[in-house]
Amino acid sequence: MEENRNNPRSNGRRKFNFYWIYIILAVVLFAFYFMGRDGESKEEIGMGELIEKLQKEEISEIKVINEKTAEIRTNGTKDTRYTYNIGPLERFEETVMKAQEEAGIEKPVYPTYEQHNNWGLDFLLTWILPFAFIIAIWVIFMRGMGRGGFGGGGQIFNIGKSKAQLFDKDNVPVNVTFKDVAGLEEAKVEIIEIVDFLKNPEKYTRLGGKIPKGVLLVGPPGTGKTLLAKSVAGEANVPFFSISGSDFVEMFVGVGASRVRDLFNNAKQKSPCIIFIDEIDAIGRARGKNPINGGNDERESTLNQLLTEMDGFGTNSGVIVLAATNRADILDKALMRAGRFDRQIYVELPDLNGRKEIFEVHMRNLKLGADVSREFLAKQTPGFSGADIANVCNEAALMAARRSKEVIEKQDFMDAIDRIVGGLEKKNKIITADEKKVIAFHEAGHATTSWLLQYAHPLVKVTIVPRGKSLGAAWYLPEERQITTKEQLYHEMIATMGGRAAEQVVFGKISTGALSDLEKVTKQAFAMVTYYGLDEEIGNLSYYDSTGQQDYSLTKPYSEKTAETIDKQVRKMVEQAYQEALDILSKNKDGLSQLAQKLIDKEVIFSDDLEAIFGKRPWGEENNTTSQENHEG
Ligand code: ADP
Ligand code: MG
Ligand code: ZN
Repeated sequence: MEENRNNPRSNGRRKFNFYWIYIILAVVLFAFYFMGRDGESKEEIGMGELIEKLQKEEISEIKVINEKTAEIRTNGTKDTRYTYNIGPLERFEETVMKAQEEAGIEKPVYPTYEQHNNWGLDFLLTWILPFAFIIAIWVIFMRGMGRGGFGGGGQIFNIGKSKAQLFDKDNVPVNVTFKDVAGLEEAKVEIIEIVDFLKNPEKYTRLGGKIPKGVLLVGPPGTGKTLLAKSVAGEANVPFFSISGSDFVEMFVGVGASRVRDLFNNAKQKSPCIIFIDEIDAIGRARGKNPINGGNDERESTLNQLLTEMDGFGTNSGVIVLAATNRADILDKALMRAGRFDRQIYVELPDLNGRKEIFEVHMRNLKLGADVSREFLAKQTPGFSGADIANVCNEAALMAARRSKEVIEKQDFMDAIDRIVGGLEKKNKIITADEKKVIAFHEAGHATTSWLLQYAHPLVKVTIVPRGKSLGAAWYLPEERQITTKEQLYHEMIATMGGRAAEQVVFGKISTGALSDLEKVTKQAFAMVTYYGLDEEIGNLSYYDSTGQQDYSLTKPYSEKTAETIDKQVRKMVEQAYQEALDILSKNKDGLSQLAQKLIDKEVIFSDDLEAIFGKRPWGEENNTTSQENHEG
C-alpha cells in the first residue's frame, strides 16, 4: 500500500510544510541584516572632523538617537550623512556647543534628542530569534529521529495521531478480493461471518448475542494473513483502517498510547468499520516478562491503552478489530481474553490442495507451457507457504525469460523450486576431486540409511551440486503426518547421522561437513527427551511451555540432577543413532560405494537409482510428495 494516508481529521494540519520554518528564518535574518544598515551612504565620523565641519557651518542638523548615536545631516542633504557614537551625553553637547561658540557661529546647531523605539529589531533580537532558533533545532532533531527510527519524517505535530490508512468508498485499496486468496476456506468463512456481523448486527443481537470485538489471525509467516485482511477491505464495503503494530511505536513516551486513542476515536466516528492491526506482536508482547531490563514501559502503556480501548467500546458499537501475528505464543494473555480478541483464526501452511489453488492464483497472469501441471508442482512443494509459492511462480517466469523462452515450462518451475529451497546453484564453486568424493559419500550415506530404514522418509533425489550454503542436498518423500512415533523420529535421526557415518565407514575420518546434521539431530533428541516425554529415564514429563509466560532461559524448571540426566540421555540417543547408522552402512558398504560413484558421475540421482542398487523398499509408499533437506556437505 502506498503512502496514502487519509486521516480525515488531521488533513488540514498535515499540509503544514516544515520548509516554511526555514523560509521564515531566512526572511527574518535578511530583514535584520538590512535594518541594521539602511541608508547606505552613512559614514562614521570622528569628533575632530565633526568639529571642523561645524565650524565651517557645513552641518545642518544633529539628531541624537536613544542617547547613543548622533545622526548628522550636512547642508543641502535630506538624508543623514554621518553618524557619530557619543560617549557621555553631556560631554557631547558641551563639546559641540563650545566648538561652534569658538568659531563665532551665529546660528549654532543644537543637538536634538529623539528616542527611537526600534520595536522590530529589539523584539526580533530578544524574543523571536531565540525562539526561532530553538524551534529550528527541535524540528531538525525530530525530523532526524523520525527518519532514522521509524520512517515517519516531517510529522512532528501529528506525532500522537494514528498512522492508520483508511480505506472506504472514496479510497479503494489495492484491489485484493477473496478470489486472490487461495485456500484458507475456514478462515474465509469466519471472516465473512464477521463482516456480516458488521452489516447486519440486529440479526445477531436480536437473540441477545454479542458481536465479537476482536479477531486474531494467527499463523506462520507468508501464509496470507495480511493478504486475507486486505481482501476483507476489498470485500466488506465498510471503512477499513489498516495499521501495523510497529506504527504505534515511537521513541517518545506516550505516543503509542495516544495513537491508539486517536485510532479508536476515528474508527468510532466511521462505524461500522474494521480496524486491522498487522504484526500486532510489536505491541502485544506479554508485559513485564523480562525481569532484567524491566520490560519496555512505552510498549506496555501502548498495550494497556489498546486493552482499555477494546474494553471501552460497547460490544455493538460496530467496530471490529482484526489483528494478525505469527507469534501468538508471545502475545499477552490479556489480549486473548474473552471480550477482546475472543476469536482466533488459524491460518496454516497450505496442504496439497491449498498449494494447488495458490499456484492457480499466481499462474493467472503467466504464460505457461503445456507441460506445466499445478498438481505436480503442488506435490513438489510440501512445507511451502503461500509467499514461497508466489515466489516460485515469479522465479520460474524470470528463469524462462532468461532462457529466452516464449512460455514458462515445467523445468523452469523445477529450477525455481530448487533455487528457493537451496539458493542459487554455484556452478563455479571450486570443489576439489577429493572434496567431491567426500560430499558424494556423505550424501549417499543419508540416501542409503533412509532407504533401508522402515520409518525414515525415503529419498527421491540427491544432488551434490553446491547451492547456496550447502554442498549437497537430499530430497525426501515425507508422509504428511499429524503425530510421529518414537520409531519414526529415531529412524530419521539415524538417516541424519548417515552422512557422517558414511564418511567414517569409508574414509575412517570425519569432517566438519556434518554441522547442520548434528545441529538437527541434537535439537531433535533434546525435544524428544524434554518435550515429548519419549525417554525412559526422564519419563512422561514435558518441560515445554506453550503459554510462553515462563522464562526458561533464566530458570530451568528442573533440578541440576535432572539437567544432568537430560544431557546424558540426549547424548546416549544421538550416539545410538550414530552407531546404528555405522552398522547399516558397514553392512551395505558396496551399495553405498556404488551410489556415491553414481553421484560423482551424474551429480544428481533419483529414487530409481537407489532402487536399482538396493531393490524396492519392502514397506510400500502411499504418499508421493517430497520435501527437501539440506546439508552442508
Ligand atoms: P503473512 O501471513 O506473513 O501476512 P502475506 O499475506 O503477506 O503473509 O503473504 C505474502 C504473499 O504471499 C501474498 O502477497 C501473496 O502473494 C502470497 N500468498 C500467501 N498466501 C496466499 C494465499 N492463500 N493465496 C494466494 N496468495 C498467497
Ligand atoms: Mg503479514
Ligand atoms: Zn548431511
